[in-house]
Amino acid sequence: MLTFSRKYYQLLIIGVFLLLVLFFFATPVYASDIRVTIDDEAVIFDGQGPIPINPRPPMVALTFDDGPSPNTSRILDVLERYDARATFFVLGYRSARHRNIVERAANIGSEIASHTWTHDNMAHLSAARIRESIESTSALIESITGVPSPHFFRPPFGSTNDTVRYVSAQMGYTITNWTLDTWDWRNRNPDIIYEAIMNEVEDGSVILLHDIHLTTAQAMEFVIPSLIAQGFELVTLSELLMFFYGELVPGKIYGRVYDEDLEARESLYSMGVYNDI
Ligand SMILES: [Zn+2]
Repeated sequence: MLTFSRKYYQLLIIGVFLLLVLFFFATPVYASDIRVTIDDEAVIFDGQGPIPINPRPPMVALTFDDGPSPNTSRILDVLERYDARATFFVLGYRSARHRNIVERAANIGSEIASHTWTHDNMAHLSAARIRESIESTSALIESITGVPSPHFFRPPFGSTNDTVRYVSAQMGYTITNWTLDTWDWRNRNPDIIYEAIMNEVEDGSVILLHDIHLTTAQAMEFVIPSLIAQGFELVTLSELLMFFYGELVPGKIYGRVYDEDLEARESLYSMGVYNDI
C-alpha cells in the first residue's frame, strides 16, 4: 500500500509537470506564419495563393564632400546613433590633418572616397595632374582606413571634360556626381536643407552635402531619423550603385553632369547619364 501510494504520487507529479510543459510551449501555429523565400522574393502562404511582397526598402545615399572637418564628427555621431551609413568624398590635404575622423567614419561602416587632393577644377588640369590628384588621395585613404578606396571619385564642382573622363577610364575609375542638390554650402540653413531633402528624396537618390559646415551637421540631426522613419535605408554609394547598376563602367559619369564651364546641363539630371569618352 505504501509502495503504491509513492508510485501514485510520483506519476501524479510527472503528469502535472508534463501538463505545465504543454501549457507553456504549445502555441497554435497559423498557416500565415509560415514563410518561404524563393530567390529574393519573400512569399507568404495564407491559403489563398502566394502574395509577393517587396523585399527591399527604398535606398538613399548621403554623400558629404570637402571634409573632413570637426563638423564631420557631429555627423558621425548621428550616423552611429541610428546605425546608418554614408559616403564621404574627402580632400587629401584635409584627410592628412584629420586622420582620426576619417578612420572613425570607416570604422562605423561609412565609405571614404576621393574628392581630389586640393579641390582644383579638374577640367583645368593636365592629364598627369588629374591622375596624381586622384591617386594621392586614394592612397592616403587606404593608408588610414586599411582598405582600398572605391574605384570612383567625385570631381570638385562636378566638373569634368574629355581629359578627366579619359584619365578616369585609364585608371579604372568611375565619376560619381549626385542626383539631389541641397545647396547646403550656399543656404547654410538646417531647415532649408531638411526641406530640400524631404521634398525631393526618392528611391536611389544620391544627396549632395558638405560636412565642413555646422549647419549641414545640424540638419542631419533631423534628416537622418526622418529618412529612416519614412522607410529609407541609408547605404553607402557603393551599395546603391551596385544595386542599381551592378558593375560600374570606368570613365562613365553617374549622376548630374556639368560641362567644362560648370554650367549645369539640367536636362541630364538622372542617374546613369552616359558620356562617351
Ligand atoms: Zn567639393
